[in-house]
Amino acid sequence: MTVARMSFDGVLIVGAGLAGLSAALAAAPRRALVLAAAPLGQGCSSAWAQGGMAAALSGGDAPELHAADAIAAGAGLCDPAAVAVLTREGPAAVRRLAALGAPFDRTADGGFAQSLEAAHGRARVARVGGDGAGAAIMQAVIAAVRAAPSIEVREGWRVRRLLTDAAGRVRGALAEDAAGSLVEIVAPATVLATGGLGGLYAVTTTPREVRGEGLALAALAGAVIADAEFVQFHPTAMDLGGDPAPLATEALRGEGAKLVNADGTPFMARYHAAAELAPRDVVARAIAAERRAGRGAFLDAREAIGEAFPHEFPAVFAAAMATGLDPRRQPIPVVPAVHYHMGGIETDLAGRTSLAGLYAAGECAATGAHGANRLASNSLLEAAVFGARAGRAAAVAADPGTAPLPSEPAPELPDAALQTLRRAMSRDAGVVRDGAGLRRLIAEIDALEAVHGHALPLVAARLVAEAAPARRESRGAHFRADYPELGRPVRSRVTLSRAPAFEAA
Ligand SMILES: Cc1cc2nc3c(=O)[nH]c(=O)nc-3n(C[C@H](O)[C@H](O)[C@H](O)COP(=O)(O)OP(=O)(O)OC[C@H]3O[C@@H](n4cnc5c(N)ncnc54)[C@H](O)[C@@H]3O)c2cc1C
Repeated sequence: MTVARMSFDGVLIVGAGLAGLSAALAAAPRRALVLAAAPLGQGCSSAWAQGGMAAALSGGDAPELHAADAIAAGAGLCDPAAVAVLTREGPAAVRRLAALGAPFDRTADGGFAQSLEAAHGRARVARVGGDGAGAAIMQAVIAAVRAAPSIEVREGWRVRRLLTDAAGRVRGALAEDAAGSLVEIVAPATVLATGGLGGLYAVTTTPREVRGEGLALAALAGAVIADAEFVQFHPTAMDLGGDPAPLATEALRGEGAKLVNADGTPFMARYHAAAELAPRDVVARAIAAERRAGRGAFLDAREAIGEAFPHEFPAVFAAAMATGLDPRRQPIPVVPAVHYHMGGIETDLAGRTSLAGLYAAGECAATGAHGANRLASNSLLEAAVFGARAGRAAAVAADPGTAPLPSEPAPELPDAALQTLRRAMSRDAGVVRDGAGLRRLIAEIDALEAVHGHALPLVAARLVAEAAPARRESRGAHFRADYPELGRPVRSRVTLSRAPAFEAA
């Protein structure tokens, strides 16, 4: 196939969720070219976020208090410098989005109305229309991007390989355009903002297309990947047959909804003193255990929310009603589902990766702000804060003038093989893991790779599958049935060419 080549003297951005678009806006006046696999606002987790953005916006709160909660949730692996940046720059990031037109809910005196979510010591989640934060924020940001003269967007363009020069510096990307042709785009700086990896699992709350492609692209180019084993499961996806599984937001439990068995018995008090408001990983394991024991797990919001459901939680209400379940009258069956990836392409505080010319931001990056477990509603915030930082850093990159080496697109993974991988990931790299299951998973990935080569989903899955057995402890979102104790607080770092190495956090 012939490959067209274009040179772009600006910042090449891969991904158009909140991180990618924040990077594009912050790179101005330097030009930015945004490539998005799907039309803007689609195929990205950002537009699906429900709860909102956490930030210390009220008088009784402070960035230091927010930071302390993030560090406690992160189970010993947060980088305090990254958390400090996130929480100090958080309030300004929310105000910036409000100034772009994001219609955050307001108090009577014009301040931000804020919700309490699990593991936050204060009500600090700025929300929109109850559970519509992501869609409303993205609508405002997309309008700003479309109006920005410095930004060009190519929708339906999917990156299939990064370009590197002889010195290993990233020089742009090989993309498939909307018509299926390959185009090499040579640029001085490339920002990966491709989101998480939920689509690698059979049960996920994220769009199916979000499947760790940026992680795999960076790893194939030689970048260091950090904390890949830490995958967060949302405890309460609705088990109503959907793929992806619609989310029953944490705020429902914040408002008093109870987790019960099929016979109506509440069960969370048996697992944690904070019951329904226990950390996410504890609630996810409790629900998995109740389901495994055959007792079933349901979210009962009949008393706590009841008739207020349609206007207080319209997205959840609509998703349940679409399957014929009325959450005002019936408990909602729930299942833990992959929701967020704490690990990712390792970056510094400016989004720089281990490879010159390559930056990363948002869920595909590992800044160290989330440690072993992300605090609820800190990821939109991270996408906005660190997306802007990466955009500013990439905007000052000079063109090294080197030529990229010839490259081939990563092979495609046929759907049947992808479904095999998704089932294997949910089975063996799920809420509870053990050495035997992880070995079986690696063997499955080996077998798929023998047939399909280094397809991006296989590479991304391997990064998780190989990092997980090397962490012989249980910490945050990574729970090992064969190593249930806490070990030393060390972060993991891995490249495709060497085994996982553990270094002090
Ligand atoms: C249902 C749900 C609810 C959530 N609720 C909240 C919440 O209330 N608060 C919160 O803080 N977080 C929440 N999260 C998490 C949060 O939404 C995400 O972590 C965050 O939006 C990630 O933003 P991002 O820009 O990094 O990635 P995304 O928004 O996922 O965007 C990824 C982009 O990359 C593109 N892409 C991927 N691969 C390629 C490729 N190869 N080539 C070109 N483009 C590519 C996609 O098309 C997309 O444009 C929620 C997530 C889900 C799924």
